[in-house]
Amino acid sequence: MINRNMQHLGEERSVIRELFEYGNKRKAEIGADNVFDFSIGNPSVPTPQFVQKEIERLLAEVPAEVLHGYTSAQGAPEVRRAVSAYINSQFGVPVSAEHIYMTCGAAASLAIAITALCEEGDEFVAIAPFFPEYRVYVEGAGANLVVAQTDQNFRLDFDELDRAIGKHTKAVILNSPNNPTGAIVSAEELHRLGDLLERKSCEKGEPIFLIADEPYRELTYGAEVPYPMCYYHDTILCYSFSKSLSLAGERIGYIAISPFACHTGALFAAVCGAGRRLGFVCAPALFQRVCAASLGKSCDVEEYRKNRDILYDFLTETGYECVPPQGAFYLFVKALEPDAVAFSERAKRHELLLVPSDSFGVTGYVRVSYCVSRAVIERSLPAFRDLYEEYKGMKK
Ligand code: PLP
Repeated sequence: MINRNMQHLGEERSVIRELFEYGNKRKAEIGADNVFDFSIGNPSVPTPQFVQKEIERLLAEVPAEVLHGYTSAQGAPEVRRAVSAYINSQFGVPVSAEHIYMTCGAAASLAIAITALCEEGDEFVAIAPFFPEYRVYVEGAGANLVVAQTDQNFRLDFDELDRAIGKHTKAVILNSPNNPTGAIVSAEELHRLGDLLERKSCEKGEPIFLIADEPYRELTYGAEVPYPMCYYHDTILCYSFSKSLSLAGERIGYIAISPFACHTGALFAAVCGAGRRLGFVCAPALFQRVCAASLGKSCDVEEYRKNRDILYDFLTETGYECVPPQGAFYLFVKALEPDAVAFSERAKRHELLLVPSDSFGVTGYVRVSYCVSRAVIERSLPAFRDLYEEYKGMKK
């Protein structure tokens, strides 16, 4: 009668969404100020003024039937030209406007890229901890997700990657700055990854792709984010404006295909085909144009840095263990017991909503999304301390 797999996916909901819905219910019960909701990566820093101004300008100057009408399936030509010109000038990679596909954020970009590549028997490698929806996109396309763990500091583990990448691998998905650890893959690491992928592609006899998932590129606290296309030719970049411009609800981003990839024309055609098949054609027209005028700009990242510093300093001084994040807006904190789900449940009793790490492909951690107001961060500190004291008391 209906597709059971889809029913299951719809009913199961992601752990993050589950906790987010619980938070909304709890806020209605005890008041929003009394719940410390660190569940979801919804940007808290306001959308920048220049974005608002550009929306107003477009509304005033562009005829409504043009502004709100369909664009080409792959995006408005002038927008695709602006994105390619930006990549050329900013990163020195001659990506063609012909190889830019405007999409509904990184989620659609990933689903399209994976579907565009996937053939029967394929595997996609995710590097843990990873954004849990990768599994949905990969398995939805009919492929298997293979997990490669990182080292104890969440840096790339090249022995693990060597083991995970094999003759069935179609692509490796790389997310830097990372959700949930905040780790940024360095130029040296990217170089090594590029060499490994090249060797593995030779062994396989066909290209293994790198899918770079980059919704957090601009959210960094000092470390440089190297551009993957400069290190590996068969790269498909999935970019989103959700976090950099605080536009998560507007669903806008793009796919860029490296000019150095094998068969770029066929690859781009497959991206268009996957976009068509999945129904992701003609990304939101107004926001395509808004973003074309905002390339390379970002919201006030300093606000996130302050949140990170307050929370990281407090948690580590209290006794929690956490690797300092270099970017994005998450802390990945070691749970105070091996079972992260049980720990998250106990945290709930202190009205702290922390996402258990299991669906990120790692056990024993929780993700704390610090893209919340400063007031929430500050009010939550005693609850984190009480939670820690509770565990200390249990050990006595
Ligand atoms: N990839 C990662 C690593 C994310 O954290 C997210 C959202 O949180 C996405 C992709 C999807 O983002 P978008 O809003 O651009 O679809």
